[in-house]
Amino acid sequence: MPALQVIGVDVGGTSIRAARFVGHSHIPVAKTKVPTQAAKGADAVLQRLEAAIRQVAGHELDNVAGIGIAAAGPLNPHTGIVLNAPNLPGWQNLPLKQLMEDRLHRPVFIGNDANLAALGEWKFGAARGHQDVLYLTISTGIGGGVITSGRLLVGANGLGAEVGHMMAVPEGALCGCGQRGHLEAMASGTAIAAAARSRLQAGNEPTSKLWQLSGGDVGHVTGAMVGEAALAGDDFAVGLIAEAGGFIGRTLASLLHAFNSSIVVCGGGVSLLGDVILNPIRASVREHVMSEAYWRDCPIVLAELGDDAGLVGAGALVMESMPAEVAGAVPAAFQTAA
Ligand SMILES: [Zn+2]
Repeated sequence: MPALQVIGVDVGGTSIRAARFVGHSHIPVAKTKVPTQAAKGADAVLQRLEAAIRQVAGHELDNVAGIGIAAAGPLNPHTGIVLNAPNLPGWQNLPLKQLMEDRLHRPVFIGNDANLAALGEWKFGAARGHQDVLYLTISTGIGGGVITSGRLLVGANGLGAEVGHMMAVPEGALCGCGQRGHLEAMASGTAIAAAARSRLQAGNEPTSKLWQLSGGDVGHVTGAMVGEAALAGDDFAVGLIAEAGGFIGRTLASLLHAFNSSIVVCGGGVSLLGDVILNPIRASVREHVMSEAYWRDCPIVLAELGDDAGLVGAGALVMESMPAEVAGAVPAAFQTAA
């Protein structure tokens, strides 16, 4: 029997990435990245999506078992409909699964990009071998995914595991979703940069390296600048990162109470600060759980797949979604955590 082939796709506001995987490997045999050109509207993006998939498929499209597509939520993986992709104009109630199946005549499965990144890290990254995983991506926003008892949690309408929109501070900063005080509004890279700008502009912290890094224009301080200053040991920047880590740790403590995970994996650009953010997260988790049993055997670690987590997870989604008789042909490493 020929090795099973799947295609994974990650549709972002800036680029579309696609890869073809063969057998049990998460190392693609073909890979491409093209600009999304989101402003040209949904039809143009779908066309580019199809072209990227056909490119990595080569002559093998008929032999591809399925195509997994990761997109920014909210979306319903059961119906295959994207409700509203914030970074893709015109993507409202878009029947993405059906539209792509009509174009490609292969089974298509869709998933929230952060959920699929969790799936990728579970199957092939930092959480291999675990059955209960919390995944958090800390980037311009905050997203996440939950693996519970060896299954990706998606919820009744596929809208679950939105960990970035858990309450961190009642009546706190305004979140992109319209509510206040959500974790994303308090601890994302965007939130960290906003806190830095307002405190610097208020005249506090005149000795911070951020004055120099921003060329004296602290209204233009970015999350990346705060990260750079923190890595250089700037006390103000280190404090801002620690504050964000504190909010993340509190939220993780609640999530650990709900899911009793055996590992927490942190991905996304902000997590690349390593222990500068992970140590405050770890300390805050310890401070806020009701028993040390929640953290004692639950390491909080960095993601391993980097930017490829969503792409690899989209490939893994096809495996997860295939009927048993097809999945039975799949190498064991692809079916369960290796
Ligand atoms: Zn929110």
